Amino acid sequence: MSSLLLSGISSLQELGSPVIVSGPCSAESRAQVLTTAKQLKDAGIKIFRAGLWKPRTFPGSFQGVGEAGLEWLAEVKRETDMLIATEVATPVHVQLALEAGVDILWIGARTVANPFAVQEIATILEGHTGVCVMVKNPVNPDIDLWIGALQRLYNSGVRRLAAIHRGFSTYGRYIYRNSPQWNIPIELHRQIPHLPLLCDPSHIGGKREFIPTLSQWALDMGFNGLFIESHCNPNEALSDKEQQVTPEVLKKILNKLIIRDKSQTSTELHLLRERINQCDADLLEVLSRRMSVSREIGVFKKEHHLQVVQTSRYDTILKSMISQASKLDMSEDFIKKIMSAVHEESVRQQIHILNNGENSK
Ligand code: PEP
Ligand code: MN
Repeated sequence: MSSLLLSGISSLQELGSPVIVSGPCSAESRAQVLTTAKQLKDAGIKIFRAGLWKPRTFPGSFQGVGEAGLEWLAEVKRETDMLIATEVATPVHVQLALEAGVDILWIGARTVANPFAVQEIATILEGHTGVCVMVKNPVNPDIDLWIGALQRLYNSGVRRLAAIHRGFSTYGRYIYRNSPQWNIPIELHRQIPHLPLLCDPSHIGGKREFIPTLSQWALDMGFNGLFIESHCNPNEALSDKEQQVTPEVLKKILNKLIIRDKSQTSTELHLLRERINQCDADLLEVLSRRMSVSREIGVFKKEHHLQVVQTSRYDTILKSMISQASKLDMSEDFIKKIMSAVHEESVRQQIHILNNGENSK
């Protein structure tokens, strides 16, 4: 199946190297769309994105301006000569977008998770072989679902395909809004090496401060481009305001990015190091979650006049961890050291709560 995808996919070199797509999360008004687009054009951006039909989690929030925004996008194209891109989730969206001259369609993470919806989009695209379609990863970390969506489009004759990595949904509070799980886009690249692969650091990070690092990591890993949200007035944005940057900031971010040589060994080493970085970030998040539960226990112990250290409980945890660790190729000694450090910090935080109130940090 992968070799079928391999054979015909176009490289999209003509869109830039790296390909940079930017624009607001949502089109909100004609003025916002045109102002942002002109500023992006001045910043050297050639592909303008804006969401019209927004897949929002809750029904009460801003759902996008819909069809009305197509005219604004068409105006951007006329006035700035940029290519225009929007998200489509239904055959009606596809038809309207194509009629309005949209150059690049992207399929959002929630839609890619639904094969019925992807098939409907693929079917309506039959015969529109010139259109470029970018496929985000599905919200859940399922590489086959991602590949399946690309294959459905390929089977409909679409050859100008690209994938966008935007991270995966998680339950709970983490550093990033969506977990990058870099091993998944890396595996996609391994299976379909000619498929252009973009990274969306805005949706992975969820906060604008993460965009520079995530973008650099993506380029270091060999991604072919970036898909970054920008807005002329991010703090007033109607969706995703924390993760949008002004076109001016975007320009600064892009100027600082280092495009490295792609020698085989260094790419491989980067990939491995990025996996290590991801593991370290995961470790930190798990530890922080554990400490937060531990602080809740501290509050309970304070209220019920219990002692902080309960040796039998720690003993049980340690034995269970040692036995699990041996099955996972880690030594008893190593796990003892790790657990002892973790336990020590837990105890320190709880003692702090018992003596100084609830803020243990
Ligand atoms: C978007 O790019 O605006 C968007 C909705 O993204 P995702 O599908 O990745 O959530
Ligand atoms: Mn968004």
